[in-house]
Amino acid sequence: MPKLWEAFHVQIHQSVIEAIGNTPLIRLNRVSEETGCEILGKAEFMNPGQSVKDRAALYIIRDAIASGALQPGGTIVEGTAGNTGIGLSLVGTSLGFKSVIVIPDSQSQEKKDMLRLAGATLVEVPPKPYRDPNNYIHYARRLAAELAKTEPNGAVFANQFDNTANRQAHVETTGPEIWAQTDGAVDGFICAAGSGGTVAGVAQALQPKGVKVGIADPMGAALYNFYTNGELKAEGGSISEGIGQGRITANLEGFTPDFACQVTDEEALPIIFDLLEFEALCMGGSTGVNIGGAVKMAQDMGPGHTIVTILCDYGSRYQSKVWNPAFLREKNLPVPHWLAEAPREVP
Ligand code: PMP
Repeated sequence: MPKLWEAFHVQIHQSVIEAIGNTPLIRLNRVSEETGCEILGKAEFMNPGQSVKDRAALYIIRDAIASGALQPGGTIVEGTAGNTGIGLSLVGTSLGFKSVIVIPDSQSQEKKDMLRLAGATLVEVPPKPYRDPNNYIHYARRLAAELAKTEPNGAVFANQFDNTANRQAHVETTGPEIWAQTDGAVDGFICAAGSGGTVAGVAQALQPKGVKVGIADPMGAALYNFYTNGELKAEGGSISEGIGQGRITANLEGFTPDFACQVTDEEALPIIFDLLEFEALCMGGSTGVNIGGAVKMAQDMGPGHTIVTILCDYGSRYQSKVWNPAFLREKNLPVPHWLAEAPREVP
């Protein structure tokens, strides 16, 4: 029996902001054994906003304060699939800023509820492609410009996709943490891209040290095509939220992956179902794509390598989707028997 109390360390954070980052690396036992590689997950769901996006939110806000764009009591405006908004609202509230979040109404109810709890004013818009002027990102940009004129303390557009303060968070924190936690014994890193901040930032930190960096794309998204044949073409869809980018954002500029693969929902879902059933880790859909990508990278590299991926956000954020048998059945996706049998009664 391990001495469990050794896991505790006495440290007082002065605010929730100081609890962002320094997340553990967790060995993913089943996929490691299956591939003969060490596949490690960076537990980003352990950030206070329960996702990888807290780091980007903190860097974006810090940058906007430093440049003078964000004044005391000012408003942060963002278009987001949810997690960036949760991070921005959390950091914003703790520093006395207001937040206005524009979100496609297709995103999970749990993320919308959490945004409101984190202090955001929510604007739900119908999902539209990026080329449409009413796409949530363009909507948020226009709203920020209007609020900059009407809000007494001004407003800024966080612009996670094209604001490279996002990537910088991963250059300065996620990448170096992975290097330190593995004592430099890391051969590969792979994850999917939303804004691309995580993958391109970790690449900027770790590729110069000889670490191969891969990109895992949900099936049908555009980046796999782009990095394999130069064509930014998307066809098909995925139930995973927050990933599947259709353009080269400013955060992705200058990034060249060493490996690219596609992961289907049918491949990604059983991975996160097993992860919960056997390893007690309850994750969201994008984590399934990331781990599926890590398995493919491990198969490509061969046994004996150490590969790190991102455990992006906690599964309770998708109780009504990935963890809901009715939703999965409706999408013709596999339903694990233990989930189909829920709700479990207390005997
Ligand atoms: N997974 C989830 C659940 C997300 O919300 C996001 C960000 N939208 C990502 C992965 C991708 O992170 P990034 O924006 O750094 O590419």
